[in-house]
Amino acid sequence: MINFFTRFIWSILLLPMLGNSRLIKNISYPKEYFIWPVQAKIGIAANFGELRSNHYHMGLDCKTDQKENMPVVAAAEGYIAKVKIEPFGFGRAIYINHPNGMTTLYAHLNDFYPELEKYIKEQQYQKKSWELYINLPENLFPVKQGQFIANSGNTGGSLGAHLHFEIRDTKTDKVLNPLLLGLPIADKVAPVIMNLAVYDRRQSTYEQKPIIVSLKKVNGVYVPASGNIQVASDKVSFAINAYDCYSGSTNQNGIFKATLSNQNNNILGFEMDSISYDDTRYLNAHIDYKTKSNGGNYFQHFSVLPGSIKGIYTTLEGEDGIIKLSDNNNHEISIDVYDVNNNKSVLKFNIKKTEKLSEIPKIQGQLFKPRQVNVFDNGSIQFSLTEKSIYDEFHFQYKEKKDGEDVIYQLHNGDVPVHDYFDLKIKKNLGNDDTGHVVIKRTLNNKNEFKKAVCMHSCIKITFFIRAHAKHVLLINSIRIIYSRKSFSIKCINTIAPGANCNFIIF
Ligand SMILES: [Zn+2]
Repeated sequence: MINFFTRFIWSILLLPMLGNSRLIKNISYPKEYFIWPVQAKIGIAANFGELRSNHYHMGLDCKTDQKENMPVVAAAEGYIAKVKIEPFGFGRAIYINHPNGMTTLYAHLNDFYPELEKYIKEQQYQKKSWELYINLPENLFPVKQGQFIANSGNTGGSLGAHLHFEIRDTKTDKVLNPLLLGLPIADKVAPVIMNLAVYDRRQSTYEQKPIIVSLKKVNGVYVPASGNIQVASDKVSFAINAYDCYSGSTNQNGIFKATLSNQNNNILGFEMDSISYDDTRYLNAHIDYKTKSNGGNYFQHFSVLPGSIKGIYTTLEGEDGIIKLSDNNNHEISIDVYDVNNNKSVLKFNIKKTEKLSEIPKIQGQLFKPRQVNVFDNGSIQFSLTEKSIYDEFHFQYKEKKDGEDVIYQLHNGDVPVHDYFDLKIKKNLGNDDTGHVVIKRTLNNKNEFKKAVCMHSCIKITFFIRAHAKHVLLINSIRIIYSRKSFSIKCINTIAPGANCNFIIF
């Protein structure tokens, strides 16, 4: 009865309430349900929605006094519903289901509490596998709020002792922003806006360099350091580089939400209130991927790229964040940036177009468009991208050149992110001796991964793959084939996502 009641209350609270701004969701969650999940000095090293390589950070990184083995406790009563043990990702992790319809996740753990540890060890022996992902029935390991469940650690893909903590909606597995649920992180500090980026939206965001505008603060409001902005285009969009700190910390965490107003009309906003793991890769459409991959900062777009999904964005009907400067007057733009506690920073500026618009440069190459299948086949290589693969159009560049005995197949460059898997076919006659296996070795962040490629008649078919939680690289941009008498190897030198590198070896 109590369970039903709390669940009922929560669903009522989840209904969006009419707020003062149409574009902010104003969802209200229960504020006193969960307690801080680790017994250490309260603090976070990362918050929800922070921008990471190919994904949003999906939880809180709770500090553990820079030590391992701090007591991790159940944030609320419930039962242990899942245990996961994996070499990367979450390492050793516990999932607790709560009667209010939410699940909490505790990751990078060391030992679990004795009864659970014993049970898990037995399961590992039984399954003859160290790696484990098991669901547990409701009555097996019930927990009370504050009950010790594990020692904190640094297991899996963790770069230092901490507890990764998530709160999810149990039914949908959507991950919620834990700081919306009343956890004790005091924050009276408004976000900091570093720079503004202005894009000419007559052309692809991947085929231009945005104007980067430095900002200064005048009477508490951010403004462009050099006054009004003039652009040689009649269609523009914006992005900002910003961060947030909580009280007493210099950690630069992610901002919570931001809205864009054109002539005092709120047209678009984005908000890190909940994100699902299925959508987390759309981060690559939220940020200016090209600027970031060329060593620049994270700029968060105030426009939904044409091949992306709404996801974290809310827009006014018919708006996508692109602003039309149809006359020669100044347009008043305002960008409001908030943290979870509603501390706000405001950026205001005027923008107008110049008398004469700039000419749009002609770019060689096959035009790849979002929301359609794009096929490339030049007789030497062939691949096709799905409707979901790219977020903005671009002219695909292909180069093939000899490098000594090697052939380098260069597929575009590192500026364009790709959303999903695709096969690349290289038409190469391997000869009679080489009908054996082709193994792909991919090196990513100094880790090697291997995968078998498929040989078909006279070509090699390579299926690119994503690693479970990291989902790093999809499109290679150059492949080197190295021949020697007995071995044949293809080396992928770069990828469309930077920092990755793979090679394919036949033996
Ligand atoms: Zn984390």
